[in-house]
Amino acid sequence: MKKKLAVILAGILLLIVSGCGNSNAGTAEPGQASLPVSGTAVSEPSASEETTAEPSGESSAAETTALETTVPPETTAAETTAAPMVFQDVDETVYVTGQVNFRAEPSLDAEIKAVLSKRASVKRTGIGDEWSRVVQNGEEGYVSNKYLTTEKPKVPAGSVEGQAGTGIYHEGGDILVVIDAGHQGKQMTEKEPNGPGSSTMKAKVASGTEGVSTGNEEYKVTLNVALYLRDELLSRGYSVLMTRETNDVKLSNVDRAQIANEAGADAMVRIHCNSSEKSSVTGALGICQSPDNPYCGDIYKTCLKLTKAVLNGHCEATGRKNTGVWETDTMTGTNWCQVPNTIIEMGYMSNSDEDELMGTEDFQRNAAIGIADGLDDYFGR
Ligand SMILES: [Zn+2]
Repeated sequence: MKKKLAVILAGILLLIVSGCGNSNAGTAEPGQASLPVSGTAVSEPSASEETTAEPSGESSAAETTALETTVPPETTAAETTAAPMVFQDVDETVYVTGQVNFRAEPSLDAEIKAVLSKRASVKRTGIGDEWSRVVQNGEEGYVSNKYLTTEKPKVPAGSVEGQAGTGIYHEGGDILVVIDAGHQGKQMTEKEPNGPGSSTMKAKVASGTEGVSTGNEEYKVTLNVALYLRDELLSRGYSVLMTRETNDVKLSNVDRAQIANEAGADAMVRIHCNSSEKSSVTGALGICQSPDNPYCGDIYKTCLKLTKAVLNGHCEATGRKNTGVWETDTMTGTNWCQVPNTIIEMGYMSNSDEDELMGTEDFQRNAAIGIADGLDDYFGR
């Protein structure tokens, strides 16, 4: 609770500092990275991870913590003579589009009775020009219209496993994390554009790599970790949307990004194992876009922050060497993704020691814990 309060306060501070009226200003970017790059990749991943999703038009990144906030003193004073508010009676369910205050009266000066979470549903009993009268937990209060919609959130509860564009949803809390286990049982050699509108075409899903010592397939190892991570995040109060929970799916890299875009996810973690021609190469690598990425450069800072957090968490929990962040604009899945996202390359299957380690249940559980730690860090929890 304390942490949550701190996040809210930080959001308010941010708004006050940057002035009111701009709803984007409140975005709780979990921390602007101070440095553009944390490290240079030693070696490139197997370059097989892409996806390509349809651009969904709006980025959910901006709405994570837009709190409606106090107006500057002079504005408040000037508006006191306004006509009394009129509410038209309605009876409908509405959904919260971004964390927002639930107030005793329809005024920014009114007592805050609660803070409603993104995706929460409330009953609306009256609607005015700027405020809605809503009932939450049997209590009447007011919420700014800007943060309410009648459109049900696109989180696909009960969705069909492996169906492109839906994912498998698990309700657990306010923050929605998409987990993508890299690759799948069968590669998809058909091509798809490397980015929205791009003429560069890449295979929909590559086969992934294979353990030099164990013969383990990458797609099985990534799924094991993804399933552990799902359970770990649910136990920590996150909601989780899985791109897949079995190996027998047909999900291109675009499809996978699209699942996150359409759900308006707060973050997406894509789990992979790396491979190098040099068997001596070891360590974990994080991947995100460059700031100049034509498709998603606008969320670069957020993605870098997420990438560093997840990579650090993973390395701490598994003892892998941290080889830094590789910024690249060649990944289809990154280029199409419009929510904060990262690729974690957990280690090298081309190194026999690391391959064998990654095949163990201990490692896979620890990797999940480490990634979850990174997400906690990123979200300030
Ligand atoms: Zn991979």
